[in-house]
Amino acid sequence: MNIDVKKILNEKPIYSGKAKSIYKIDEDKVLIEFRDDITAGDGAKKDIKKGKGYLNALISSKLFEVLNKDNIPTHYIEYIDPVYMVAKNVEIVLIEVIVRNIAAGSLCRKYPFKEGQELKRPIVQFDYKSDEYGDPMLNEDIAIALDLATEEELKRLKELALKVNESLKKFFDERGIILVDFKIEFGRTKDGELVVADEISPDTMRLWDKETKDILDKDIFRKDLGDVVGKYEIVAKRIGCI
Ligand code: UDP
Repeated sequence: MNIDVKKILNEKPIYSGKAKSIYKIDEDKVLIEFRDDITAGDGAKKDIKKGKGYLNALISSKLFEVLNKDNIPTHYIEYIDPVYMVAKNVEIVLIEVIVRNIAAGSLCRKYPFKEGQELKRPIVQFDYKSDEYGDPMLNEDIAIALDLATEEELKRLKELALKVNESLKKFFDERGIILVDFKIEFGRTKDGELVVADEISPDTMRLWDKETKDILDKDIFRKDLGDVVGKYEIVAKRIGCI
């Protein structure tokens, strides 16, 4: 595809979030720019980490390609060197879908799970995507009452999220990495189809080294454990991006 990135970046982004900016290419497509900004705790903690945008664009693109190969519908179209991804222009569903294989993070803060405890079966959790309300957890009735999705769509979100989990868990396992948990977002295409959207990167997943249990994700930044970009680089190398 012939996309004039320079020309597109001359226009204002249609949306600018905490770590990505979205530019309109045409009615059907957007250009997603992965920036070096990193935040935690709903933006309370902020920094800029050189090279993070590049690694997340690479990793995200690769993981969307893995999903597409497994016949899971996504918004992904192509990667553009160094920090861009072309994607279908979709309407983002305001539900953050979290899937967990191993207990960590907020699950252990809120419930009597032990950090690192393997879960009998994956947990799928829906959070309301709203900085204003602090991303509170939803149940089906609240999500429907807020018009975030229909009952059928909620079923489909869960079904797709579990498929994404199976696909990525296997992919990472074969490369010596444990997929602890992750957050994904979905979009509605013009035809009303739900597709995996946004990003899938170490900013939005927990990844542990299978042998050493070393942390390879944004928890390095959240907990001040050292060189976060160095860990993302390990992930990118293991999955064959660099
Ligand atoms: N997550 C995310 N964005 C959010 C909340 C969570 O990407 O706004 C990811 C997070 O990186 C982790 C998973 O979803 O991989 C589960 O996060 P958790 O609920 O444990 O929240 P945390 O402990 O990070 O506050």
